Amino acid sequence: MDCEQTLVWIHHYMDGGLPQWRMLAVTRHLDDCPPCAQGYRLELHFRSVVATKCTEQAPYNLRQRIAEALACQPPPAAGGLGDVGKGLDSWA
Ligand SMILES: [Zn+2]
Repeated sequence: MDCEQTLVWIHHYMDGGLPQWRMLAVTRHLDDCPPCAQGYRLELHFRSVVATKCTEQAPYNLRQRIAEALACQPPPAAGGLGDVGKGLDSWA
């Protein structure tokens, strides 16, 4: 396994979502490749910070207003751009 392959699989590796043989291959690469091991440690640190610091919730009133605004929006037409695309017809 090379660095590029490790980069592809590292997030699945961190989530434990790889077959065991691939988990072992990534582990072996991390053991032998300091740059990838450092990237792995940084990613672990980043996840840890996000998990511990990003726990605030928006105020109830704000969440309620967003939910109401979203409920008022008609769903976009299938395959279309919805309201965003309406003005574009005149440009064609
Ligand atoms: Zn590497």
